[in-house]
Amino acid sequence: MELEIKELHVSIDEKEIVKGVNLKVRSGEFHVIMGPNGSGKSTLAKSIMGHPKLKVTQGEILADGESVIGMSADKRAKMGIFLQFQNPIEIEGVGFVNFLHTAKRSVVQGDVDVNQFMGEIKQLTEKLKITNGIVGRSLNQGFSGGEKKKAEILQLAVMKPKLAILDEPDSGLDIDAIKTVAENINEIAAKHQMSILIITHYSRVLSYMKPQFVHVMANGRIVAEGSTELIEKLEKDGYESFTNKG
Ligand code: ADP
Ligand code: MG
Repeated sequence: MELEIKELHVSIDEKEIVKGVNLKVRSGEFHVIMGPNGSGKSTLAKSIMGHPKLKVTQGEILADGESVIGMSADKRAKMGIFLQFQNPIEIEGVGFVNFLHTAKRSVVQGDVDVNQFMGEIKQLTEKLKITNGIVGRSLNQGFSGGEKKKAEILQLAVMKPKLAILDEPDSGLDIDAIKTVAENINEIAAKHQMSILIITHYSRVLSYMKPQFVHVMANGRIVAEGSTELIEKLEKDGYESFTNKG
C-alpha cells in the first residue's frame, strides 16, 4: 500500500501535536521515524489509524490515493492498515486467540479455518519464542512488556496488512528478544510485500533491519530525512543536533 501524508496537523484536546508533516511511503518500502520523547511520533501513528481522540485539523492522509480522514479505525483496518501500539491495553475475559481469530475474520470479511489458524499461531509462537503460554490467556493480561510486544508481532503476522505501523516494537525488550522481533518483522515484511513504518528512539533494533528511509521527528515536525547514515549520525550526535535548529 502507498501511504501519503500531506501537510498534516493533528490536535489532542485543542493542543496541536503534529505540526505539518509530509511523508510518503511507497508500496513495499521500509521507513523509520526516530525522534525524542514527546515529539509526536505516536500521535502521528495513531492519526494514520484513526484514533478517535485525535483531530486532524489540516492536511491529508491518503492510502493508495484514497483519503482516510474521517474513516473509522475499523474501516482502515479492512483497507489493510495495521498499527502496533506502543502501550497495548489489557482486556480481561477476551482470550488472545479468540481475539485474533475475530479480528482476522473481520478484516478478511469471511471465514477463517480454525485448524489452519491454530496451526499458524502455534508456528508463530515458536518462531517468536513465546514460551510462557500467552496463547491460553486473556488479551495482554499479565503479559510482560516483552510478551506484549511479541504478541503484537504475532498479530501482525496473522493479519498480514498492506501497511504496518509499528510503534516502538523494541521498547522493553531484552537484546535477544529485540533480535527475534526484528528478524520476524523482516521475514513477515518480505514475505507479504508490506509497506512498513517503524517508530523507535533506539537504533539497536535497526542493526537487525534494513530501513530504506529514515525520518527524524522533533516538535511535531520532520526535521531531517535520509538513509541509514542518518542513524549513525544520531548515534554520534544525539537528537540535540536536530532539535536545536529551531
Ligand atoms: P512520542 O510518541 O514522540 O513520544 P506522543 O505523540 O506520544 O510523542 O506525544 C506528543 C505530545 O502529545 C506530548 O507532549 C504528549 O504529552 C502529548 N499527548 C499525547 N497524548 C496525549 C493525550 N491523550 N492528551 C494530551 N496530550 C497528549
Ligand atoms: Mg510514542
